Amino acid sequence: NQTILLASRPSGTPTADNFRFETSAVPAAAAGQVLLKTLYVSVDPYMRGRMNAGKSYVAPFEVDQPIVGGVVAEVVESHLEQFPVGSVVVGNLPWQRYSLSDGKGLQRIPTGPAPVSYFLGLLGMPGLTAYFGLLDICQPKPGETVVVSGAAGAVGMIVGQLAKIKGARVIGTAGSDEKVAYLKEVGFDEAINYKTANIPAALAAAAPNGVDCYFDNVGGAITDAVYDLLNKHARIALCGQISSYNDAEAPVGPRPEGKLLKTSAKLQGFIVSDYLPQWPEGVKQLTQWYQEGKLQTEETVTEGFDQIPAAFLGLFKGENTGKALVKVA
Ligand code: NDP
Repeated sequence: NQTILLASRPSGTPTADNFRFETSAVPAAAAGQVLLKTLYVSVDPYMRGRMNAGKSYVAPFEVDQPIVGGVVAEVVESHLEQFPVGSVVVGNLPWQRYSLSDGKGLQRIPTGPAPVSYFLGLLGMPGLTAYFGLLDICQPKPGETVVVSGAAGAVGMIVGQLAKIKGARVIGTAGSDEKVAYLKEVGFDEAINYKTANIPAALAAAAPNGVDCYFDNVGGAITDAVYDLLNKHARIALCGQISSYNDAEAPVGPRPEGKLLKTSAKLQGFIVSDYLPQWPEGVKQLTQWYQEGKLQTEETVTEGFDQIPAAFLGLFKGENTGKALVKVA
């Protein structure tokens, strides 16, 4: 068996040295347990926060302990009736080739509706983040203008497509010309390469009628520019701030409060687990739209257990389009 542990806490941008591989025997499942074989590991930006010490909405990873995150796994040995051998599950599990579970927090993945890996993306945590953040907080109406930052990522690409389903005009920002082209393919009205464009000018040109909804995945200069375009009663879903996750010091920037005040805008931060009781309803609706061909998805799949840290670090370099995953088996 192989496990990836947190070797040390990063200061600034994490590196491969913050992770350590450990080899051990494959364990056997005891009474009340299942043995799981990892198929896909999800690498997610929020895991960067868990590498830091200190209080947040999830407990930090501990040094010398396994990294834990979203995993799709197959049951290979079972002493739990509800998880027979051969069934495929999704859960929060260690970065490990084989792991034991008592079944708590595991969900069986239904066979049929979609590839199992989608339960880490479109039909899993990122899809639900897009679903509740956009539909509950932003509530886009037909004809309104929606801006999504981090638009070509796991959450952002779903947000844009959901906003199109609701009849809005959608503008996305992303970090390469290939990502911009991809966003237009999946139906975004406008897409901006924030690395090459003059961000305020490009956003103003793309949103001649101002911005009614902003789904913020990244923060920083893009967010500063969007706040200058807000319409009266604009709604902002504060989902992520990836542009500052590796900053050693708290970022200093324009103070947006005056802009929110003048536009009577609503800014709401949220964590997808706030909506836990409604997750089944969200998965059902996302599955239906996917099956009707109204939602497309994209994955960047890296192969090999040993590549998990590199795939995670790649999130901060924009290496992924859509959901970043590692195929382990
Ligand atoms: P993504 O698939 O979007 O991957 C991260 C992407 O962020 C990269 O591909 C890169 O794309 C972009 N990025 C990296 N560094 C920067 C930077 N300095 N400035 C701007 N963009 C950058 O990840 P997710 O879709 O999983 O997550 C998107 C956001 O949503 C994150 O902030 C995450 O923390 C947040 N999130 C919040 C949740 C919640 O409950 N509130 C739940 C899930 C996610 P590019 O090439 O465009 O730069």
